[in-house]
Amino acid sequence: MAAPVKAAHELQSRTRTEDVLINGGVEFSSLLLSKPVLEGLSASGFHRPSPIQLKAIPLGRCGLDLIVQAKSGTGKTCVFTTIALDSLILENTTTQVLVLAPTREIAVQIHAVVMAIGSAMEGLECHVFIGGRPISQDKLHLKKCHIAIGSPGRIKQLIEMGVLTTSSIRLFVLDEADKLLEDDSSSSFQEQINWIFSSLPANKQMLALSATYPESLAHNLSRYMREPTFVRLNPTDPGLLGLKQYYKIVPSHSLPHKVFEEKVQSLLELFSKIPFNQALVFSNLHTRAQHLADILSSKGLPAVCISGGLSQDQRLEAMWKLKQYQCRVLISTDLTSRGIDAEKVNLVINLDVPQDWETYMHRIGRAGRFGTLGVAVTYCCHGEEENKMMAIAQKCSLNLIHLPGTSRSRRIFPVLCQLNSTAFMA
Ligand code: ADP
Repeated sequence: MAAPVKAAHELQSRTRTEDVLINGGVEFSSLLLSKPVLEGLSASGFHRPSPIQLKAIPLGRCGLDLIVQAKSGTGKTCVFTTIALDSLILENTTTQVLVLAPTREIAVQIHAVVMAIGSAMEGLECHVFIGGRPISQDKLHLKKCHIAIGSPGRIKQLIEMGVLTTSSIRLFVLDEADKLLEDDSSSSFQEQINWIFSSLPANKQMLALSATYPESLAHNLSRYMREPTFVRLNPTDPGLLGLKQYYKIVPSHSLPHKVFEEKVQSLLELFSKIPFNQALVFSNLHTRAQHLADILSSKGLPAVCISGGLSQDQRLEAMWKLKQYQCRVLISTDLTSRGIDAEKVNLVINLDVPQDWETYMHRIGRAGRFGTLGVAVTYCCHGEEENKMMAIAQKCSLNLIHLPGTSRSRRIFPVLCQLNSTAFMA
């Protein structure tokens, strides 16, 4: 058995909200999973299923097509990973499971979870296929690959080239399905996914997972899934229970860089006052993200910037630094607003109000992973930006609180002060 990787959270280490806990102490062992999968779950720290896992895994094991919707960070990756691993025929080395993810970072992260939960499965072959990596390496990996995880573009290319054989695929997974299928003319995912779907065997199981479930997703999924079973938790309340959400209005100015300076000033003050573990800062603009990283680093706060402009290796390195606790602040455009799971992040800052409510929910969901406590602060410029924020708050029924002066921060951020905060080790 390969050395087990601790993929799960240690539940006892921090306070958890009730949406990830189930009453009655059910363990994974009562879900009738195969022995190696149970061993892998236990070795990587997964002992008790979360509510979405308890509901969805047994249905998935029955071979049903599922639409799984649950809040960010409540354990959906473990749902499809467990279903996939439990259905594998290891003696057959052709690809049996295909997982699509909207970003390369998410694909890499899913791979880590599959390898952790599959650590007791002798001979398991699971590989990631994403742009920015040599095709020659993909070809080698595809010689033996039970589970292929990738971004739509590269997967399509590999099928077209005839190196990824689809005839044995029995399970097709769309992670972050709302992003993969969104109606956005700037994204060509839909077309690629249609093409991939049409190249798969007709007889297969399909799983679509998402934290939000906009109308457009329902419409788009009907193209692929017939009579899917819905497994949805709190569909009308996607808000994370452990997250306190604040906003701060900054004065408007005709020069955009003045507004930026104002926001940064306020942010620096916030960082100096509140006791966070790690923070993610989202900026709508890539150029500002890099500028902010430089400012924070010059003030002695280890900050790293991640954006689509970086090479694949640089992007993975930035994610690695965040997860290994080697950077205190990660500044990002919307590249990491989805899926990225870094356990210690307990503060999310929106330097700008995001374009839509889905992005807002995904961004703030980076804190409060698996029911932990966290804080989100959104900076809005007086006027249009403020109106946009209020529209999001109304749409999502947010309990948005005006950010008081940070001199009282220890009193106003009891959530963060309560955290069993680990000393930062740069
Ligand atoms: P989602 O896909 O819903 O956003 P993830 O699957 O990424 O959520 O899970 C969030 C975090 O919670 C991950 O670090 C994961 O390892 C952890 N986790 C998931 N399920 C469990 C569980 N049953 N027990 C302990 N930790 C878990």
